[in-house]
Amino acid sequence: MTVPLGLAQSVVNLAYVVAAIGLILGIKRLSSARTARSGNWIAAAGMAVAIAATFTSREITSYWLIVAGIAVGTVIGVASARLVKMTAMPQMVALFNGVGGGAAALIAAAEFHRLAPEAGHMRGDTVAASMFSALIGSISFSGSLVAFGKLQELLPGRPLTFRGQNVFNAALFAATLTFAVLAAATEQQPWMVVLLVAALVFGVMLVLPIGGADMPVVISFLNAFTGLAAASAGFVLSNNALIIGGTLVGASGTLLTILMGRAMNRSLANVLFGAFGAPAPSGAVASGAATDGQVVREITAEDAAAMMAYARQVVIVPGYGLAVAQAQHATRELADMLEARGVSVKYAIHPVAGRMPGHMNVLLAEANVPYPQLLDLDEANPEFPRTDVAVVIGANDVTNPAARSNPESPLYGMPILNVDQAQNVVVLKRSMNPGFAGIENELYYNPKTAMLFGDAKASVERLVTSIKEV
Ligand code: NAP
Repeated sequence: MTVPLGLAQSVVNLAYVVAAIGLILGIKRLSSARTARSGNWIAAAGMAVAIAATFTSREITSYWLIVAGIAVGTVIGVASARLVKMTAMPQMVALFNGVGGGAAALIAAAEFHRLAPEAGHMRGDTVAASMFSALIGSISFSGSLVAFGKLQELLPGRPLTFRGQNVFNAALFAATLTFAVLAAATEQQPWMVVLLVAALVFGVMLVLPIGGADMPVVISFLNAFTGLAAASAGFVLSNNALIIGGTLVGASGTLLTILMGRAMNRSLANVLFGAFGAPAPSGAVASGAATDGQVVREITAEDAAAMMAYARQVVIVPGYGLAVAQAQHATRELADMLEARGVSVKYAIHPVAGRMPGHMNVLLAEANVPYPQLLDLDEANPEFPRTDVAVVIGANDVTNPAARSNPESPLYGMPILNVDQAQNVVVLKRSMNPGFAGIENELYYNPKTAMLFGDAKASVERLVTSIKEV
């Protein structure tokens, strides 16, 4: 029995709508740790429906090639999901994002090759969509590979800059756009190749001057690029699922980039062109008003443990140092012991604590910290005035009061956790070295603050041992 073409197309489009609903519901559920796991499954099911529907296309010439591609992708995907460590997640996202962009660029190039054997064969809108996909997809591919290299320490993490770099990059981008216009106007294959190469080089040059610590913002930004490139490839192929899926990725990547920028009080332009994260000139850190005649108070693990054990409420503030030291399990043990003594324990999570969005949530979830104990910035700040001890574990910038009080500070305006409003503050870090922003933290000179120096994991373990003896 043959199915009428119109009916078959309607069924495929219906399946794409089901797939789109799955993707949207999946993303919605990813917004809470409680529902994220099921969200992931729903989105994966939506994607499976989209792939199955695409299999009915009459334009497919080789099913085996597609099945082989899916098999290779599945093996790599499953292996990396199981083997890659939580701390290496940002670079894995960079890599996967990059290949998405590369795939969109290849689709554009292949369709251009197929539809434009000679000038005048392509519709204007298809040409425009192909150029956009090739341009944005290639930038995302090579930019993401550089981001991967920096995070994996295959490339230096510091910003790689040279004099006149921004002008050079602007000229390179202008040339790349010109190649896109030439390829579109002439429909000549060589211009497409030149466009792809120039866009790849531009992607590398765009990311090289950005410091390793800013890579999460860059990856999220390039993720938005990949989404737009995929949506555009959907227009080239007249594939609704690709258009919807790509647009969702483009929109969520854009929103995430904006939210991360806001939480760091930095504009995207500052991240992309500011070469932030360059080593501070010698002496820059040690200078400044905060150190003038002010003293830092040290505390022993025994004294800090006693203070916590007799507290009514303790709020733990985790940061990048907790991730470096892998202190999450020891921290959970500390919290359990305090709770067993009747102390109320909460965790205050700053949106950009650590080096990627959700970094602290992922680590604490790994240690099975109950979700209700995790407070976000807005929930945590009202708690500090009624908190006896705020325990800052490897967090620095996200607690710096200069963000509230010092208009000269690079952090000024960044929303912070107001730990200085607690009755006592205990800070666990190895030295007086600054954090990501490279600046002094006034908190350490506050008379309420006591420093417990040492590796975060070792210090928390010492606190656990000491509490047993209180
Ligand atoms: P931070 O300001 O970078 O400070 C981390 C502190 O941890 C350092 O001062 C360091 O001091 C300490 N530390 C490092 N290793 C340690 C160890 N093994 N044991 C104990 N302490 C250790 O971190 P944060 O407060 O979490 O703030 C995050 C920063 O990253 C913000 O400036 C944010 O804007 C930026 N950022 C975040 C994201 C994101 O998505 N989360 C993205 C890009 C940038 P010592 O060396 O003295 O130990």
